[in-house]
Amino acid sequence: MTAEIIDGKAIAATIRQEIAQEVVEMREKAGRVPGLATVLVGERPDSATYVRMKKRACAEVGIDSFSYDLPADISQADLLVLVQELNDNPAVDGILVQLPLPDHIDEETILSAISLEKDVDGFHPLNIGRLSMKGRDPLFVPCTPKGCIELLDRTGVTIDGKNAVVLGRSNIVGLPVAMLLLHRNATLTICHSRTQNIPGVIRQADILIAAVGRAEMVKGDWIKPGAVVIDVGVNAVDDASKKKGYRLVGDVDFDEAREVAGAITPVPGGVGPMTIAMLLRNTMDGARRTENIA
Ligand code: NAP
Repeated sequence: MTAEIIDGKAIAATIRQEIAQEVVEMREKAGRVPGLATVLVGERPDSATYVRMKKRACAEVGIDSFSYDLPADISQADLLVLVQELNDNPAVDGILVQLPLPDHIDEETILSAISLEKDVDGFHPLNIGRLSMKGRDPLFVPCTPKGCIELLDRTGVTIDGKNAVVLGRSNIVGLPVAMLLLHRNATLTICHSRTQNIPGVIRQADILIAAVGRAEMVKGDWIKPGAVVIDVGVNAVDDASKKKGYRLVGDVDFDEAREVAGAITPVPGGVGPMTIAMLLRNTMDGARRTENIA
């Protein structure tokens, strides 16, 4: 069997088109467009790149972005003042504080200060708490996990009643994606660094979500024939044939797994583009809620 390739780039492009249309409609109905505030503390090149990509994606769909590039030595108190101002600013529907923050700033304190209604990253403890409880919908779901589920839905994969295995249990990816699968009635197993016989567990999976940060850890013979594989991992491996000296691979050995799986996401071009598309989705949804647009 050769797996269907789940084209995250194409699916994300479709979602961006849908959002661009909703932005036009919102301008007509509410006389304004959604706004996203991006807060970057310090000069980490990777963080600066992520923020730049997010601002560019906003511009493409017509969402306003307001950027705050702050020095690495800003005090926690001053950062909290800015978050409060953004909470009070009616032009801002979403607040994104790019992580990680410098060591002298407590991430939990900052993330908890973001208004629940503007928590487009979905990391506010109350939103995560609601995600973990039956019958309590969070206002926002973290972008990468939401993107994984969206990929399954838009590929026509049934989640209800399936055996799902999530490899990884981080607050950002593994845990929230596991909660989402559970809400959708999957039978769920979460693997982590202390799990015994991970290959044996993964062989039971109809749906595998790999978010472990270990290059090509999941081998082809770990995959159940016909399974759907969503590879969240982004790992740089040395490759002298590339100009940069490295290439990006996922947590799954793609060449092996595609011979066994029913469908699989590539890296790059799978989950990655969905993360930014879901940030736009969350910002749009926040604005719709504020403006009472159904
Ligand atoms: P993380 O915070 O480092 O968490 C990794 C998880 O994997 C932990 O739960 C850890 O278990 C588990 N783990 C590590 N080594 C393991 C092993 N050998 N066997 C079993 N479990 C193991 O990573 P993350 O933030 O979730 O990110 C995971 C990957 O996704 C990374 O490659 C990251 O770059 C990528 N990512 C991609 C996107 C995107 O938009 N495409 C977004 C976010 C992250 P313990 O809990 O027991 O330590």
